[in-house]
Amino acid sequence: MRVVVIGGGPAGMMAAGQAALGGATVTLLERNKKLGRKLAITGKGRGNLTNAAALADFIAQFGATGPFLYSPLYRFDNEKLRAFFAGLGVPTMVERGGRVFPESEKATDLVQALARFLEKTGVRVINGQRATAILHARGRVNGVACGDVTYPADRVVLATGGASYPTTGSTGDGYRLAAALGHHIVPVRPALVPLETEEAWVREAAGLSLRNVEAALYEQGKKLAAEFGEMLFTHYGVSGPIILTLSQTAVDVLHRGGKPLLKINLKPALSAEKLSNRVLRDFSAHSRKAFKNCLHGLLPEKLVNPVVLLCGIPPETPVHQVSREGRRRLVEVLRGLTLHIRDHRPLAEAIVTAGGVDTRQIDPGTMASRLVEGLYFAGEVIDVAGNTGGYNLQAAFSTGFVAGSSAAGE
Ligand SMILES: Cc1cc2nc3c(=O)[nH]c(=O)nc-3n(C[C@H](O)[C@H](O)[C@H](O)COP(=O)(O)OP(=O)(O)OC[C@H]3O[C@@H](n4cnc5c(N)ncnc54)[C@H](O)[C@@H]3O)c2cc1C
Repeated sequence: MRVVVIGGGPAGMMAAGQAALGGATVTLLERNKKLGRKLAITGKGRGNLTNAAALADFIAQFGATGPFLYSPLYRFDNEKLRAFFAGLGVPTMVERGGRVFPESEKATDLVQALARFLEKTGVRVINGQRATAILHARGRVNGVACGDVTYPADRVVLATGGASYPTTGSTGDGYRLAAALGHHIVPVRPALVPLETEEAWVREAAGLSLRNVEAALYEQGKKLAAEFGEMLFTHYGVSGPIILTLSQTAVDVLHRGGKPLLKINLKPALSAEKLSNRVLRDFSAHSRKAFKNCLHGLLPEKLVNPVVLLCGIPPETPVHQVSREGRRRLVEVLRGLTLHIRDHRPLAEAIVTAGGVDTRQIDPGTMASRLVEGLYFAGEVIDVAGNTGGYNLQAAFSTGFVAGSSAAGE
């Protein structure tokens, strides 16, 4: 069995090695000079390869198309993935939120381990080859073209990734290659993407990271989603883990022409009453000071000016002159710092691409195309997009495992 795998990311490398273990003669085509460029930058370079969550929790992180992953995640789950890397000399550890990282905290160790796996299993790796077409005759694949060069194949695994962070090589080729063979591509859009705000004051807070805050997303007064954790201000708006998670809902609202609104509770551990008492205590302790100088105990420096402005209280007002209504307004702002979401950042800046090859055209038990014989899919090219926390890499490895094993003729 001659198997050609297109794409040397986590999904493609896993698929290629598994197909070789299954007895196939495997060629892996990667357009870059190096394998796994995106994998090398995951988890801020620390490589959050999976999550310790149970299977059902995993599925829940993938939204509507999550159930498609039951079979691949069941066959090659987080424990098997950790054992796989341990076997290749990369032991892993679990951190906050069940996030799993290599003990070395180096994503590049994952890339190197996979390269060793390919070498050990005898996969022929060809770098600098960009697939331009999947060749087929009478409804079944028979090769892959890279411009003028042709690689004959009995089976092809398409693992070209999504269309975000295109400098890593993932430029959406897979969507075109799959569409050329008649597959339906669910419209591609960013998932896990930073958000731009109408409020220009965010620029003043750029670089500020907030921990233990709650961000809630609203549309026309209706709360759509809320997340607790860490976020970040940027020169254009907001980013960081909880914002990326909420972005999936925000992108949907924006794409249907809606106007999402973000409310950040800076003190989620305190009830309105407790926070009000806290403000009163701070004000009594500094009664001679100006309003703008009494907020440093409550807020990070970079948020003092914006909060003062949002309260509508003149900054120089002595705090003993701040009315009950003024204090009520301050508490309201601290519990609901409001940001109007103008747009999301472009697909190129998304951590993951939503949309892709329609899961209804793929057999989840084998990752085989239901339209073209001998064609298999793995990784982000499929219409699955999960949350942050290691879920996307596990999905790439699990679908790669199943695609590779099936392509070998199992
Ligand atoms: C900054 C960043 C951080 C991330 N951090 C995490 C994290 O910590 N945990 C997590 O779970 N997920 C993370 N992700 C998401 C995760 O990296 C992807 O979901 C995952 O890499 C998808 O794997 P893949 O193999 O399907 O695709 P990719 O990793 O995109 O690999 C596809 C490969 O195919 C090659 N290719 C494309 N077209 C062709 C062609 N025509 N011919 C030949 N080769 C081609 C590309 O060059 C690329 O090497 C992160 C993503 C980004 C951008």
